[in-house]
Amino acid sequence: MTAEPTHRVLVVGGGPAGLMAAELLSAAGVAVDLFDAMPSVGRKFLLAGRGGLNLSHSEPLARFLSRFGPHCNDVSSAIQAFNAEQLQAWARSLGVLTFVGSSGRIFPNEMKASPLLRAWLQRLRQPEQGQPVKFHLRHRWVGWADRGDETGLELRFLTPQGPALASGDAVLLALGGASWARLGSDGLWVDQVEARGVAVSPLRPSNCGFDVAPAWSPYFGQRFAGQALKTVAFTVTDVQGQTQRQQGEFVVTRSGFEGSLVYAFSRQLRDQIDATGQANFVLDLLPDLSLQRVQAEISHPRGSRSLANHLKSRLSLVGVKLALLHECLGPQRMHQAGELAPAIKALPMSFGATRPLDEAISTAGGVRFEGLDSRLMAKSCPGLFCAGEMLDWEAPTGGYLLTASLATGRQAAAGILDFLEQKKTGRSSAVGKQASDIAAARLCDEKGVDGP
Ligand SMILES: Cc1cc2nc3c(=O)[nH]c(=O)nc-3n(C[C@H](O)[C@H](O)[C@H](O)COP(=O)(O)OP(=O)(O)OC[C@H]3O[C@@H](n4cnc5c(N)ncnc54)[C@H](O)[C@@H]3O)c2cc1C
Repeated sequence: MTAEPTHRVLVVGGGPAGLMAAELLSAAGVAVDLFDAMPSVGRKFLLAGRGGLNLSHSEPLARFLSRFGPHCNDVSSAIQAFNAEQLQAWARSLGVLTFVGSSGRIFPNEMKASPLLRAWLQRLRQPEQGQPVKFHLRHRWVGWADRGDETGLELRFLTPQGPALASGDAVLLALGGASWARLGSDGLWVDQVEARGVAVSPLRPSNCGFDVAPAWSPYFGQRFAGQALKTVAFTVTDVQGQTQRQQGEFVVTRSGFEGSLVYAFSRQLRDQIDATGQANFVLDLLPDLSLQRVQAEISHPRGSRSLANHLKSRLSLVGVKLALLHECLGPQRMHQAGELAPAIKALPMSFGATRPLDEAISTAGGVRFEGLDSRLMAKSCPGLFCAGEMLDWEAPTGGYLLTASLATGRQAAAGILDFLEQKKTGRSSAVGKQASDIAAARLCDEKGVDGP
């Protein structure tokens, strides 16, 4: 253990971003008090583990960064400083080995989050070097108790024992987005953060399901909800007129679709709904066959066979795919030879709404980068830092969310150390950071990426 700490930092939010920041700060000898509203930390991280815990992605950095779309520049310096390789090395340091799946996604060998979280919390409580992190659970941050000047930030909490106050030399908020509120991140921080002059973009669903328009017939919604549409291709033209196509799968719900392929386009679809009230897309039900081939198979004499049996034997078109075709075309158009093949290859459909934010995998919007400096400190409130999903970036699923949460947690921790150093000595190491931000911006310009 190092000597008595000279600084005390309050970290609010014990998700991946807050824990990562706490780790760096405590290793640097800072006294860290970590507060979380819930009875335990890392609840959403554990939930992510149920899906295998996709930690990151092995694709080249420029492509990785392009997944953040218009926010590529905002997150690039954090991710360059903590990229997929560094993330894997960090997991290894906790005894968690990782592998790269066939899709390029990176998972822990055990495909779950609990061993990693357990080892991580153990290290935070009993570090080999630095200060142990002090955990304050069931502490809900509800606002400020001070005037917010640079002499110290004082926070108000609600605890089972009643109200409590805490103050430190710097504060990191890592409160997450606003989905799956029962796990702790409920987005109720917006007013409190804005009260300190920090601009926040409205929180919106990302990687979310959508409701089709017009609604499913009661039969289709009830009979096929939960069934997967496997290997289909989705084509979307976004509000800028750019068309993107991607192959994959998703699931029918009672009111629409959800799942990885829909999530991959959620930003474009959501923005289209916001702009026009509806998002149009085209579904290819047999992406491995050409239109000519589908036409030829359908034209094959079918004798006394029903149309369903004909499509099953010639094109293996069965189950939910066939039912969706019926649902969208109706019985008459199903039997019009000229309509069927083009519809199988390019079924036009529309979404009328996103599913509610609470059901989404992640949250778009949040603390705007314009209001933060390159250390992730609020320009309007010296000593107040923000990190993780509560920042205004979004990305598809694929490991990008956890990587960005962890990486911005590290960036904020480095920023806090710089801020504390500057407070003590009047010197800052921020010049080096600015140079790395310029390099990061260049990397984002090299995108040339197709697909979302
Ligand atoms: C079902 C599901 C599966 C996912 N799978 C993956 C995946 O495989 N790969 C991937 O990259 N991402 C995945 N994600 C997303 C990923 O889990 C999040 O992006 C990540 O957890 C965000 O980290 P964070 O630290 O910013 O916020 P969070 O993990 O949300 O943590 C925020 C913390 O702040 C606390 N808090 C909030 N408000 C207060 C308050 N007022 N006072 C005190 N404490 C407060 C909360 O209790 C919580 O502990 C998944 C998400 C979901 C919902």
